[in-house]
Amino acid sequence: MAGIEEREFCFPDCIHLSQRYRCDILRVAQCVGEGCAFRQSETEYRLAYERWQKAISALSCEQRGKIVSKYYGGKMPHVMQEKK
Ligand code: SF4
Repeated sequence: MAGIEEREFCFPDCIHLSQRYRCDILRVAQCVGEGCAFRQSETEYRLAYERWQKAISALSCEQRGKIVSKYYGGKMPHVMQEKK
């Protein structure tokens, strides 16, 4: 049976992997591994978030309003508020 050190070595660098080697976002018995389409490292997550913020800030107020009403129940999330 594999020890904890060996198990850590086998699992991918993914922010969704819990400390108990379970996936926090998918309904799978155990982590799918490197081939998982949802695997995301800390750096990948940060870069994706920055791209998302850039895309949101490029939208008009009207377009943002449509997104807010459809996905956020009409309440503007902090990250989508205009910077002053
Ligand atoms: S690699 Fe896939 S299955 Fe494993 S923790 Fe990440 S998202 Fe979940």
